[in-house]
Amino acid sequence: MQRAPLHPIPPGSTIGVFGSGQLGRMLALEARRMGYRLHTLSPERNSPTGQIADREVVAAYDDRDAVLEFAQGVDVVTFEFENVPALVSELANARGVPVRPSGRVLHAAQDRLREKTILSQAGLPVTPYRPVETAADLQDAVDQIGFPAILKTSAFGYDGKGQLLLESEKHLDAARQIADGQSCVLEAFVEFSSELSLVAARGTDGSFAAYPLVENRHKNHILDLTIAPAHVDSELVQAAKYLARQLFEFLDVVGVLCIEYFLMPDNSGTQDATDSEKSSVDRFLINEIAPRPHNSGHWTIEGAATSQFEQQLRAVCGLKLGSTEQLRPAVMLNLLGDLWNDGEPNWSALFKYPEVSLHLYGKRKPRRGRKMGHLTATGPSTEVALVTGLAARAALQGAE
Ligand code: AMP
Repeated sequence: MQRAPLHPIPPGSTIGVFGSGQLGRMLALEARRMGYRLHTLSPERNSPTGQIADREVVAAYDDRDAVLEFAQGVDVVTFEFENVPALVSELANARGVPVRPSGRVLHAAQDRLREKTILSQAGLPVTPYRPVETAADLQDAVDQIGFPAILKTSAFGYDGKGQLLLESEKHLDAARQIADGQSCVLEAFVEFSSELSLVAARGTDGSFAAYPLVENRHKNHILDLTIAPAHVDSELVQAAKYLARQLFEFLDVVGVLCIEYFLMPDNSGTQDATDSEKSSVDRFLINEIAPRPHNSGHWTIEGAATSQFEQQLRAVCGLKLGSTEQLRPAVMLNLLGDLWNDGEPNWSALFKYPEVSLHLYGKRKPRRGRKMGHLTATGPSTEVALVTGLAARAALQGAE
Protein backbone atom coordinates (compact mmCIF):
# COMPACT_ATOMS: atom_id res chain seq x y z
CA MET A 1 0.00 0.00 0.00
CA GLN A 2 1.42 3.43 -0.95
CA ARG A 3 0.88 6.24 1.54
CA ALA A 4 1.76 9.90 1.67
CA PRO A 5 5.36 10.15 2.91
CA LEU A 6 5.84 11.38 6.46
CA HIS A 7 8.17 14.31 7.16
CA PRO A 8 11.58 13.23 5.90
CA ILE A 9 14.48 13.46 8.33
CA PRO A 10 17.15 15.29 6.30
CA PRO A 11 20.97 15.08 6.33
CA GLY A 12 22.33 16.95 9.36
CA SER A 13 19.83 15.15 11.63
CA THR A 14 20.83 12.60 14.27
CA ILE A 15 20.12 8.87 14.08
CA GLY A 16 19.88 7.02 17.41
CA VAL A 17 20.95 3.38 17.23
CA PHE A 18 20.36 0.80 19.94
CA GLY A 19 23.14 -1.77 19.77
CA SER A 20 26.78 -1.13 18.94
CA GLY A 21 28.15 -4.00 16.82
CA GLN A 22 29.34 -4.16 13.23
CA LEU A 23 25.90 -3.51 11.75
CA GLY A 24 25.73 -0.19 13.58
CA ARG A 25 29.31 0.54 12.53
CA MET A 26 28.54 0.10 8.84
CA LEU A 27 25.37 2.16 9.25
CA ALA A 28 27.43 4.88 10.98
CA LEU A 29 29.93 4.93 8.10
CA GLU A 30 27.09 5.49 5.60
CA ALA A 31 25.42 8.02 7.87
CA ARG A 32 28.61 10.07 8.12
CA ARG A 33 29.12 9.91 4.36
CA MET A 34 25.64 11.29 3.87
CA GLY A 35 26.06 14.08 6.44
CA TYR A 36 24.00 12.58 9.27
CA ARG A 37 25.08 12.37 12.87
CA LEU A 38 24.75 9.07 14.71
CA HIS A 39 24.50 8.22 18.40
CA THR A 40 24.71 4.68 19.76
CA LEU A 41 23.58 3.21 23.08
CA SER A 42 24.68 -0.19 24.41
CA PRO A 43 26.41 -1.58 27.50
CA GLU A 44 29.75 -1.73 25.65
CA ARG A 45 32.51 0.91 25.62
CA ASN A 46 34.71 1.63 22.56
CA SER A 47 32.34 -0.58 20.56
CA PRO A 48 32.49 -1.19 16.79
CA THR A 49 29.70 1.40 16.34
CA GLY A 50 30.97 3.74 19.05
CA GLN A 51 34.34 4.09 17.29
CA ILE A 52 32.57 5.70 14.33
CA ALA A 53 29.59 7.36 16.05
CA ASP A 54 29.37 11.01 17.09
CA ARG A 55 28.32 9.88 20.55
CA GLU A 56 28.61 6.55 22.37
CA VAL A 57 26.37 6.15 25.41
CA VAL A 58 27.37 3.25 27.64
CA ALA A 59 24.27 2.08 29.52
CA ALA A 60 22.08 -0.96 30.06
CA TYR A 61 19.10 -1.16 27.69
CA ASP A 62 16.77 -1.15 30.69
CA ASP A 63 18.31 1.99 32.22
CA ARG A 64 15.22 4.22 31.91
CA ASP A 65 16.96 7.52 32.53
CA ALA A 66 19.77 6.79 30.08
CA VAL A 67 17.32 5.63 27.38
CA LEU A 68 15.11 8.73 27.86
CA GLU A 69 18.05 11.10 27.73
CA PHE A 70 19.37 9.30 24.64
CA ALA A 71 15.98 9.48 22.86
CA GLN A 72 15.77 13.21 23.59
CA GLY A 73 19.01 13.82 21.71
CA VAL A 74 18.08 12.09 18.43
CA ASP A 75 15.61 12.60 15.56
CA VAL A 76 14.80 8.94 14.91
CA VAL A 77 15.50 5.68 16.70
CA THR A 78 16.53 2.43 15.02
CA PHE A 79 18.26 -0.81 15.97
CA GLU A 80 21.20 -2.86 14.89
CA PHE A 81 20.37 -5.62 17.39
CA GLU A 82 16.88 -6.97 17.99
CA ASN A 83 17.23 -8.19 21.54
CA VAL A 84 16.52 -4.80 23.04
CA PRO A 85 13.72 -4.64 25.65
CA ALA A 86 10.32 -3.31 24.54
CA LEU A 87 10.80 -0.50 27.07
CA VAL A 88 13.28 1.18 24.72
CA SER A 89 10.77 1.79 21.95
CA GLU A 90 8.04 2.70 24.43
CA LEU A 91 10.20 5.39 26.02
CA ALA A 92 11.33 6.77 22.68
CA ASN A 93 7.72 6.83 21.48
CA ALA A 94 6.68 8.59 24.65
CA ARG A 95 9.24 11.31 23.83
CA GLY A 96 7.66 11.67 20.38
CA VAL A 97 10.69 10.27 18.56
CA PRO A 98 9.84 7.94 15.65
CA VAL A 99 10.99 4.35 16.21
CA ARG A 100 11.66 2.46 12.96
CA PRO A 101 11.05 -0.41 12.66
CA SER A 102 8.38 -0.30 15.35
CA GLY A 103 8.53 -2.07 18.70
CA ARG A 104 5.97 -4.54 17.32
CA VAL A 105 8.37 -5.73 14.60
CA LEU A 106 11.18 -6.04 17.12
CA HIS A 107 8.96 -7.95 19.52
CA ALA A 108 8.03 -10.41 16.75
CA ALA A 109 11.67 -11.18 15.97
CA GLN A 110 12.94 -11.41 19.54
CA ASP A 111 11.63 -14.81 20.42
CA ARG A 112 11.62 -17.84 18.12
CA LEU A 113 8.29 -19.16 19.35
CA ARG A 114 6.58 -15.80 18.96
CA GLU A 115 8.21 -15.34 15.54
CA LYS A 116 6.93 -18.69 14.27
CA THR A 117 3.46 -18.04 15.68
CA ILE A 118 3.26 -14.64 13.96
CA LEU A 119 4.63 -15.96 10.66
CA SER A 120 2.05 -18.75 10.74
CA GLN A 121 -0.72 -16.22 11.48
CA ALA A 122 0.44 -14.27 8.43
CA GLY A 123 -0.01 -17.44 6.37
CA LEU A 124 3.74 -17.72 5.77
CA PRO A 125 5.50 -21.10 5.59
CA VAL A 126 7.66 -22.11 8.55
CA THR A 127 9.49 -25.32 9.43
CA PRO A 128 7.09 -27.70 11.27
CA TYR A 129 7.45 -26.94 15.00
CA ARG A 130 5.90 -27.45 18.42
CA PRO A 131 6.25 -25.17 21.45
CA VAL A 132 8.13 -26.64 24.40
CA GLU A 133 7.24 -24.29 27.24
CA THR A 134 8.38 -26.72 29.97
CA ALA A 135 10.52 -29.88 29.99
CA ALA A 136 7.28 -31.86 30.42
CA ASP A 137 6.11 -30.77 26.91
CA LEU A 138 9.15 -32.33 25.28
CA GLN A 139 7.86 -35.89 24.88
CA ASP A 140 4.61 -34.68 23.28
CA ALA A 141 6.51 -32.44 20.90
CA VAL A 142 8.86 -35.29 19.91
CA ASP A 143 5.86 -37.60 19.35
CA GLN A 144 4.41 -35.05 16.92
CA ILE A 145 7.56 -33.88 15.15
CA GLY A 146 9.57 -37.15 15.20
CA PHE A 147 13.33 -37.56 14.76
CA PRO A 148 15.55 -35.94 13.66
CA ALA A 149 14.54 -32.64 15.24
CA ILE A 150 16.24 -29.52 16.57
CA LEU A 151 15.47 -28.02 19.94
CA LYS A 152 16.03 -24.25 19.97
CA THR A 153 15.70 -21.89 22.91
CA SER A 154 13.10 -19.21 22.20
CA ALA A 155 15.19 -16.28 23.41
CA PHE A 156 18.62 -15.03 22.41
CA GLY A 157 19.31 -17.66 19.78
CA TYR A 158 21.53 -16.88 16.83
CA ASP A 159 24.35 -18.58 14.91
CA GLY A 160 23.23 -21.98 16.22
CA LYS A 161 23.51 -20.89 19.87
CA GLY A 162 21.06 -22.59 22.24
CA GLN A 163 20.37 -25.45 19.79
CA LEU A 164 20.49 -29.21 20.12
CA LEU A 165 20.06 -31.78 17.36
CA LEU A 166 17.95 -34.73 18.54
CA GLU A 167 18.61 -37.79 16.43
CA SER A 168 16.96 -40.34 18.69
CA GLU A 169 15.62 -41.04 22.21
CA LYS A 170 19.20 -40.99 23.48
CA HIS A 171 19.27 -37.18 23.17
CA LEU A 172 16.10 -36.64 25.21
CA ASP A 173 17.87 -36.18 28.55
CA ALA A 174 20.17 -33.47 27.21
CA ALA A 175 17.14 -31.81 25.58
CA ARG A 176 15.20 -31.89 28.87
CA GLN A 177 18.04 -30.06 30.57
CA ILE A 178 17.90 -27.26 27.99
CA ALA A 179 14.10 -27.05 28.15
CA ASP A 180 14.10 -26.99 31.94
CA GLY A 181 13.19 -23.48 33.01
CA GLN A 182 13.16 -21.79 29.60
CA SER A 183 10.78 -21.65 26.66
CA CYS A 184 11.94 -23.57 23.56
CA VAL A 185 10.67 -24.76 20.21
CA LEU A 186 11.17 -28.20 18.74
CA GLU A 187 11.58 -28.02 14.97
CA ALA A 188 11.66 -30.76 12.39
CA PHE A 189 15.17 -31.14 10.99
CA VAL A 190 14.59 -30.47 7.30
CA GLU A 191 16.71 -31.71 4.40
CA PHE A 192 16.84 -28.43 2.49
CA SER A 193 18.59 -28.19 -0.86
CA SER A 194 20.07 -24.78 -0.05
CA GLU A 195 19.86 -21.85 2.34
CA LEU A 196 18.82 -18.56 0.73
CA SER A 197 18.10 -15.13 2.11
CA LEU A 198 16.43 -11.98 0.97
CA VAL A 199 17.18 -8.50 2.31
CA ALA A 200 14.48 -5.96 1.55
CA ALA A 201 13.31 -2.56 2.72
CA ARG A 202 10.06 -0.70 3.10
CA GLY A 203 9.77 3.06 3.32
CA THR A 204 7.44 5.27 5.35
CA ASP A 205 5.38 5.69 2.15
CA GLY A 206 4.84 1.90 1.93
CA SER A 207 7.22 1.46 -1.01
CA PHE A 208 9.06 -1.86 -1.09
CA ALA A 209 12.43 -2.77 -2.61
CA ALA A 210 14.19 -6.15 -2.43
CA TYR A 211 17.79 -7.02 -3.21
CA PRO A 212 18.54 -10.11 -5.29
CA LEU A 213 18.03 -13.44 -3.56
CA VAL A 214 21.37 -14.80 -2.30
CA GLU A 215 22.74 -18.20 -1.29
CA ASN A 216 24.28 -18.70 2.14
CA ARG A 217 26.73 -21.40 3.17
CA HIS A 218 27.29 -22.07 6.86
CA LYS A 219 30.08 -23.72 8.85
CA ASN A 220 29.39 -24.83 12.43
CA HIS A 221 26.00 -23.03 12.21
CA ILE A 222 27.73 -19.69 11.50
CA LEU A 223 27.44 -17.98 8.13
CA ASP A 224 30.66 -18.68 6.24
CA LEU A 225 29.93 -17.10 2.88
CA THR A 226 27.20 -15.53 0.76
CA ILE A 227 26.93 -15.85 -3.01
CA ALA A 228 25.11 -12.99 -4.73
CA PRO A 229 23.00 -13.61 -6.67
CA ALA A 230 21.85 -17.16 -5.91
CA HIS A 231 21.68 -19.36 -9.00
CA VAL A 232 18.00 -20.23 -8.90
CA ASP A 233 15.11 -19.93 -11.37
CA SER A 234 13.41 -16.57 -11.69
CA GLU A 235 10.13 -18.10 -10.41
CA LEU A 236 11.89 -18.90 -7.15
CA VAL A 237 13.21 -15.35 -6.90
CA GLN A 238 9.70 -14.01 -7.48
CA ALA A 239 8.29 -16.41 -4.88
CA ALA A 240 10.87 -15.30 -2.28
CA LYS A 241 10.04 -11.64 -2.97
CA TYR A 242 6.31 -12.35 -2.82
CA LEU A 243 6.64 -13.97 0.62
CA ALA A 244 8.84 -11.11 1.84
CA ARG A 245 6.33 -8.52 0.71
CA GLN A 246 3.53 -10.36 2.54
CA LEU A 247 5.60 -10.25 5.71
CA PHE A 248 6.54 -6.56 5.39
CA GLU A 249 2.89 -5.62 4.87
CA PHE A 250 1.64 -7.88 7.67
CA LEU A 251 4.06 -6.41 10.21
CA ASP A 252 3.93 -2.90 8.68
CA VAL A 253 7.74 -2.86 8.64
CA VAL A 254 9.53 0.43 8.05
CA GLY A 255 13.23 -0.28 7.65
CA VAL A 256 15.39 -3.13 6.42
CA LEU A 257 14.58 -6.75 7.21
CA CYS A 258 16.19 -10.02 6.18
CA ILE A 259 14.35 -13.30 5.71
CA GLU A 260 16.37 -16.51 5.89
CA TYR A 261 14.81 -19.29 3.83
CA PHE A 262 15.34 -23.01 3.51
CA LEU A 263 14.79 -23.97 -0.13
CA MET A 264 13.28 -27.45 -0.20
CA PRO A 265 13.99 -29.95 -2.98
CA ASP A 266 11.74 -29.81 -6.04
CA ASN A 267 9.37 -32.78 -5.79
CA SER A 268 6.77 -31.32 -8.14
CA GLY A 269 7.52 -33.29 -11.33
CA THR A 270 6.28 -31.75 -14.62
CA GLN A 271 3.61 -29.09 -14.27
CA ASP A 272 1.95 -26.30 -16.15
CA ALA A 273 2.99 -22.68 -15.61
CA THR A 274 0.39 -21.79 -12.94
CA ASP A 275 1.24 -24.88 -10.93
CA SER A 276 4.91 -24.12 -11.17
CA GLU A 277 4.36 -20.59 -9.75
CA LYS A 278 2.47 -22.06 -6.85
CA SER A 279 4.99 -24.82 -6.31
CA SER A 280 7.79 -22.21 -6.24
CA VAL A 281 6.21 -20.62 -3.17
CA ASP A 282 5.71 -24.08 -1.67
CA ARG A 283 9.43 -24.78 -1.84
CA PHE A 284 10.26 -22.11 0.75
CA LEU A 285 10.31 -22.44 4.52
CA ILE A 286 11.20 -19.38 6.58
CA ASN A 287 13.92 -20.20 9.12
CA GLU A 288 14.09 -16.81 10.74
CA ILE A 289 13.74 -13.08 10.25
CA ALA A 290 16.00 -10.23 11.35
CA PRO A 291 14.50 -6.69 11.36
CA ARG A 292 17.76 -4.94 10.39
CA PRO A 293 20.57 -5.25 7.85
CA HIS A 294 22.02 -8.75 7.80
CA ASN A 295 25.39 -10.45 7.40
CA SER A 296 24.12 -11.94 4.11
CA GLY A 297 23.57 -8.39 2.80
CA HIS A 298 27.12 -7.07 3.35
CA TRP A 299 27.97 -7.71 -0.31
CA THR A 300 25.66 -4.80 -1.21
CA ILE A 301 28.36 -2.32 -0.09
CA GLU A 302 30.46 -3.13 -3.17
CA GLY A 303 27.95 -5.05 -5.26
CA ALA A 304 24.73 -2.99 -5.33
CA ALA A 305 23.73 0.53 -6.33
CA THR A 306 22.64 1.24 -2.72
CA SER A 307 24.13 -0.64 0.24
CA GLN A 308 21.78 -2.22 2.76
CA PHE A 309 23.05 0.31 5.31
CA GLU A 310 22.27 3.33 3.16
CA GLN A 311 18.90 1.69 2.53
CA GLN A 312 18.28 1.38 6.27
CA LEU A 313 19.14 5.05 6.67
CA ARG A 314 16.84 6.04 3.82
CA ALA A 315 13.97 3.91 5.14
CA VAL A 316 14.14 5.04 8.75
CA CYS A 317 14.62 8.70 7.75
CA GLY A 318 11.53 8.60 5.53
CA LEU A 319 13.51 9.23 2.32
CA LYS A 320 12.79 7.49 -0.98
CA LEU A 321 14.40 4.05 -1.10
CA GLY A 322 17.55 3.64 -3.18
CA SER A 323 18.00 1.29 -6.14
CA THR A 324 18.58 -2.34 -5.17
CA GLU A 325 20.08 -3.14 -8.56
CA GLN A 326 23.09 -5.46 -8.39
CA LEU A 327 26.09 -3.92 -10.17
CA ARG A 328 28.33 -7.00 -10.34
CA PRO A 329 28.45 -10.59 -9.07
CA ALA A 330 29.81 -10.71 -5.54
CA VAL A 331 30.77 -13.15 -2.80
CA MET A 332 31.03 -12.17 0.86
CA LEU A 333 33.28 -14.25 3.14
CA ASN A 334 33.27 -13.86 6.92
CA LEU A 335 36.50 -13.47 8.88
CA LEU A 336 36.08 -15.18 12.25
CA GLY A 337 38.30 -14.86 15.32
CA ASP A 338 39.78 -18.30 14.50
CA LEU A 339 41.81 -16.59 11.79
CA TRP A 340 43.91 -14.97 14.56
CA ASN A 341 44.79 -18.36 16.18
CA ASP A 342 48.41 -18.15 15.02
CA GLY A 343 48.77 -14.40 15.42
CA GLU A 344 47.90 -11.48 13.13
CA PRO A 345 46.61 -12.50 9.67
CA ASN A 346 48.89 -11.87 6.70
CA TRP A 347 47.27 -8.61 5.52
CA SER A 348 49.84 -7.86 2.84
CA ALA A 349 49.00 -11.17 1.09
CA LEU A 350 45.37 -10.06 0.95
CA PHE A 351 46.12 -6.82 -0.87
CA LYS A 352 47.48 -8.81 -3.80
CA TYR A 353 43.82 -9.38 -4.74
CA PRO A 354 42.58 -6.10 -6.23
CA GLU A 355 38.99 -7.39 -6.58
CA VAL A 356 38.71 -8.06 -2.84
CA SER A 357 37.64 -5.45 -0.26
CA LEU A 358 38.47 -5.77 3.41
CA HIS A 359 36.09 -4.81 6.22
CA LEU A 360 37.26 -5.03 9.85
CA TYR A 361 34.92 -4.20 12.70
CA GLY A 362 37.35 -2.74 15.27
CA LYS A 363 36.94 -5.61 17.76
CA ARG A 364 40.00 -6.05 19.93
CA LYS A 365 39.58 -9.63 21.14
CA PRO A 366 39.51 -12.25 18.37
CA ARG A 367 37.57 -15.10 20.01
CA ARG A 368 36.73 -18.39 18.27
CA GLY A 369 33.62 -18.00 16.12
CA ARG A 370 33.49 -14.21 16.69
CA LYS A 371 32.77 -12.16 13.56
CA MET A 372 35.81 -9.86 13.28
CA GLY A 373 35.30 -8.69 9.71
CA HIS A 374 34.51 -9.83 6.21
CA LEU A 375 35.82 -9.80 2.65
CA THR A 376 33.84 -9.02 -0.48
CA ALA A 377 35.15 -10.40 -3.74
CA THR A 378 33.63 -9.19 -7.00
CA GLY A 379 34.14 -10.65 -10.46
CA PRO A 380 32.63 -11.28 -13.87
CA SER A 381 30.66 -14.23 -12.40
CA THR A 382 29.92 -15.57 -8.93
CA GLU A 383 32.08 -18.61 -9.77
CA VAL A 384 35.11 -16.38 -10.39
CA ALA A 385 34.33 -14.19 -7.36
CA LEU A 386 34.08 -17.31 -5.18
CA VAL A 387 37.45 -18.67 -6.31
CA THR A 388 39.07 -15.25 -5.77
CA GLY A 389 37.45 -14.74 -2.38
CA LEU A 390 38.46 -18.18 -1.10
CA ALA A 391 42.03 -17.71 -2.33
CA ALA A 392 42.23 -14.28 -0.67
CA ARG A 393 40.90 -15.61 2.62
CA ALA A 394 43.33 -18.55 2.50
CA ALA A 395 46.19 -16.13 1.77
CA LEU A 396 45.45 -14.39 5.08
CA GLN A 397 46.55 -17.57 6.84
CA GLY A 398 49.62 -18.14 4.73
CA ALA A 399 53.16 -17.20 5.67
CA GLU A 400 54.72 -14.24 3.86
P1 AMP B 1 19.50 -20.64 13.17
O1 AMP B 1 20.28 -20.17 14.36
O2 AMP B 1 18.11 -21.02 13.47
O3 AMP B 1 19.62 -19.70 12.00
O4 AMP B 1 20.23 -21.98 12.69
C1 AMP B 1 21.58 -21.98 12.25
C2 AMP B 1 21.75 -22.98 11.13
O5 AMP B 1 21.40 -24.31 11.57
C3 AMP B 1 20.84 -22.74 9.93
O6 AMP B 1 21.37 -21.76 9.09
C4 AMP B 1 20.82 -24.13 9.31
O7 AMP B 1 22.03 -24.39 8.62
C5 AMP B 1 20.77 -25.05 10.52
N1 AMP B 1 19.35 -25.33 10.89
C6 AMP B 1 18.59 -24.60 11.72
N2 AMP B 1 17.34 -25.10 11.82
C7 AMP B 1 17.30 -26.19 11.02
C8 AMP B 1 16.28 -27.14 10.67
N3 AMP B 1 15.05 -27.08 11.20
N4 AMP B 1 16.60 -28.13 9.80
C9 AMP B 1 17.86 -28.21 9.26
N5 AMP B 1 18.87 -27.34 9.56
C10 AMP B 1 18.60 -26.34 10.42
